[in-house]
Amino acid sequence: MAAPTPPEPIFESRAVYTGQIMTKLTIRVIYDNCRAKEGFQEGWGFSCLVDVGRRKILFDTGADPKAFFSNLQNFNIPCDAITDVVFSHKHADHTAGFHEVLSKLNEGSRLFLPKRFLSFTKPPSHLQLEVVDDFREIDSGVYSLVLKGGLFLYEQALLLQTEKGLVMITGCAHPGVIQLLEAAQKKLSAPVHLVLGGFHLFRKSRHQISEIVDAFKRFGVEKIAPCHCTGEVAQEQFKTAFQDRFYQVGAGTTLALD
Ligand SMILES: [Zn+2]
Ligand SMILES: [Zn+2]
Repeated sequence: MAAPTPPEPIFESRAVYTGQIMTKLTIRVIYDNCRAKEGFQEGWGFSCLVDVGRRKILFDTGADPKAFFSNLQNFNIPCDAITDVVFSHKHADHTAGFHEVLSKLNEGSRLFLPKRFLSFTKPPSHLQLEVVDDFREIDSGVYSLVLKGGLFLYEQALLLQTEKGLVMITGCAHPGVIQLLEAAQKKLSAPVHLVLGGFHLFRKSRHQISEIVDAFKRFGVEKIAPCHCTGEVAQEQFKTAFQDRFYQVGAGTTLALD
């Protein structure tokens, strides 16, 4: 019997075989500094649920467990529907209710942490723990990218390979949102469709922000949804630059790949 032909790579890849492209993707913003919908609670922090069909991946848990659970309920998402949890980094505005949330997950659900996270806390033993050092595929078309974000701090971003290009989700982007974009492009040389999450630019000057906006354009980023710690000034500058390709998101937002 002839050996099966390996599947064709979807994009011309410089670094890794990129598996399958996903055609179904829904991102629900559960927690953010701003509220996008009546009935949702806002607060400094970030969390979203990435639904790729067969897996529901929770990315961060925000800063206040009460608000997190209330917002999750507003979306009608039961905790036991979550198959994987990815924590971007160990800061308190992304990890609230760490034990409370994880204790509600089904046995064998997977927990993805960036390296050095575990000095912060011990995860419950019923979960399958995966520590990511730099880059790995966590499901077909779903990748974790880890970069150093400070002293003893590593941050993990989520990369989703969709038919429209890469979607990158950031927590606080402490390593630098451009550094994350650069690393993502090195690993998966695909056009960038959307970058969503905290860009951590709230302490940057207008000039510094302009340089970052220009870099986004150089990378050919098609759409952006900066939120959480991006800061109002940076949001305005991105909005001016990206116009109708800028998405104002907040707790209660649902974005679907269409
Ligand atoms: Zn942080
Ligand atoms: Zn943050």
